[in-house]
Amino acid sequence: MRTIRQIYQAPPKHWVGDGFYVSPLFSHMDEVSKHTSPFLMLDYGVPTEFSPNSGAPRGVGGHPHAGFETVTVALQGEVAHRDSSGGGGIIREGDVQWMTAGRGIVHEEFHSKDFSERGGVLEELQFWVNLPREFKETAPEYQALPKETIPVVKHGDAAVRLIAGELNGIKGAARTFSEINLWMMDVPARGRAEFELPANHNVMLVLLRGDAAVNGSMVKPTELVTFEIESGKVCIQAQDEDVKLALFGGVPIDEPVVGYGPFVMNTREEILEKIRAFKAGEFGLID
Ligand code: MN
Repeated sequence: MRTIRQIYQAPPKHWVGDGFYVSPLFSHMDEVSKHTSPFLMLDYGVPTEFSPNSGAPRGVGGHPHAGFETVTVALQGEVAHRDSSGGGGIIREGDVQWMTAGRGIVHEEFHSKDFSERGGVLEELQFWVNLPREFKETAPEYQALPKETIPVVKHGDAAVRLIAGELNGIKGAARTFSEINLWMMDVPARGRAEFELPANHNVMLVLLRGDAAVNGSMVKPTELVTFEIESGKVCIQAQDEDVKLALFGGVPIDEPVVGYGPFVMNTREEILEKIRAFKAGEFGLID
């Protein structure tokens, strides 16, 4: 079995804008990020009840990103997105949005108008995925991945939704710039599934529902598990309740990471250039 490096308790939650109540599970600004590349960050928007709101939808107004990709997985509720590359849409339960910021983008993230007026529970994951140096200046792009375009693979007792990567010869929905797996998984109570992942991948998982034994260690919802880079299986044994989790990782990008707010580049000079370009309006506007 692949050795567990560490199991992290969920850190304190905070608000992102007035629309997303998140548990910041890891970040490229922390020590743990050595073991998460090519993933830079994960915010888990924990299930949060919103009352009906007839005014402006809650969320986060226009803000920039550059040098990486943001991946939003809607689990409950609806998020509306618009960006300066002309991308946009509503991300509904089960849908995924894969946004490549590349050389620079401005976007906004709000509750959808319908969800806002109706109220209800919002739950989502937002991953930040690093871009290799050679792709940091790529053109901004937006992949809308509706639920029905994401393959579901039965593996052991698990139903695995392949957002990105490959399992049993079946390819995930997203185009990526480096070798990445991003899977959402349901394992029924007392069910079991084993995965042999490439030995050169960083591998992580975060549990969202139910308790599971992971390679023999008990893991609870909102806990993050990191593994050593080595061969060996990841074995998930659901306990008395149905389990939902995200399993993800990939080949680490072995390059310097310099982060400043919404920009992640390789050098400080590149960060200063992104700040200048954004201030000069070179990332464009949201129509
Ligand atoms: Mn953003």
